Amino acid sequence: MSLPRTAEIVVIGGGVVGCSIAYQLAKRGQRDVVVLERETVGSGTTSKAAGGIRAQFATETEIRISLECIEVFERFEEEFGTDIGYRKIGYLSLVTDEKDLRGYEPRIALQNRLGVDVRVITPKEAQAIVPAMRVDDLIAAVWSPGDGMAGPAEVTNGFARRARALGATIAEGVEVGAVDLKTRRVRTSQGDVSASIVVNAAGPRAARVARMVGVDVAVHPRRRHIFFTEPFPEIPGPTPLTTDRGSGMYFRKEMEQLLISPGDVVDVGDDMDVPMDQAKKEEAVEKAIHRLPVLERARISGGWAGLRPLTPDEHAIIGWAPGVDRFFLAVGFCGHGFQHSPATGRLVAEWLLDGRPSMDLSVFDPNRFATGTSAPSDKGPDAE
Ligand SMILES: Cc1cc2nc3c(=O)[nH]c(=O)nc-3n(C[C@H](O)[C@H](O)[C@H](O)COP(=O)(O)OP(=O)(O)OC[C@H]3O[C@@H](n4cnc5c(N)ncnc54)[C@H](O)[C@@H]3O)c2cc1C
Repeated sequence: MSLPRTAEIVVIGGGVVGCSIAYQLAKRGQRDVVVLERETVGSGTTSKAAGGIRAQFATETEIRISLECIEVFERFEEEFGTDIGYRKIGYLSLVTDEKDLRGYEPRIALQNRLGVDVRVITPKEAQAIVPAMRVDDLIAAVWSPGDGMAGPAEVTNGFARRARALGATIAEGVEVGAVDLKTRRVRTSQGDVSASIVVNAAGPRAARVARMVGVDVAVHPRRRHIFFTEPFPEIPGPTPLTTDRGSGMYFRKEMEQLLISPGDVVDVGDDMDVPMDQAKKEEAVEKAIHRLPVLERARISGGWAGLRPLTPDEHAIIGWAPGVDRFFLAVGFCGHGFQHSPATGRLVAEWLLDGRPSMDLSVFDPNRFATGTSAPSDKGPDAE
């Protein structure tokens, strides 16, 4: 496929966010949308996601976004013709600390007000949900039965396939090396593309791409591991995505295996290749056995590491980049970029085509760190 030399809108990054934006733009009738992806669709940090989907967020905007996304996931097969393996397995957070539990109260009140079923349950009730768990050190658990999971690759491919069918170009193996906003040229490994608008959807590489136009964005990639056991019928599935708030460890059943993350948050500097750290396997196993003693009999058969594109307040950065012309940011999605991708695409398309989004997105304002107006950090269950 030859790369178009001109575009109305160039999206840098063919992850779940870039593909959702391209799909929504094409669906709205926008012509000449070109996504430039250095590797293959969905091969970035999207391929590392655990697939978790929740409505438990701390701000009204993010809860409303989640509710919209859950509706999209529920009817994804109808709209995109793709089975994404969507299942409402629930999220279960295990609480050992009184202050942590108090912190949940205002968030749960807000979530309940917006119609989300989230409740505090007793340790015994939590054990009834996952009988293999040790609960003697818990003071409570937080249970949201409507939360769930789906396949990030399936969702991304669904967006990409439909975007292409509607006329968008998604070019793989094309790396952007520079962006010249004066001449409106995007320099790539396969020649220049001129574009009226450039969208940065480069995931963990978002800060690098923004530096190409002299903009600093506060996206800090942090490594996290996920390991999986051999088939382990002693813990029958499905289990909710269960997070040990004290240790950060989380687990859920994946087919016959158990997925376990130590909940690590490691700065690996500029290394975007994310090599695995075997010490994290020991950490994950130790934390998991504390909660699920029966895992003494399990064997870890593999795992992976990925970068979560974190921001200082753990909210995404969405909007026009400050101080430059027609360079849009859809970055910094932390541990929830997969699950928020459907609404993100819709809102970004509105912003670009209608001049503003139909929802107040000030919590994502790219200027907020410079102006000191960022919302409090979400200390809720950003488990993933
Ligand atoms: C271990 C782990 C577990 C997670 N679990 C969950 C979860 O359960 N639920 C959830 O919602 N989220 C989860 N996440 C977070 C989620 O993966 C991200 O928020 C989301 O995938 C971000 O999508 P993206 O499209 O912005 O980034 P990416 O998928 O990284 O896409 C960006 C793309 O841009 C491309 N690119 C970058 N620079 C250039 C360039 N110069 N030229 C061309 N292309 C370029 C990259 O190759 C990449 O494909 C998890 C993350 C990790 C690491």
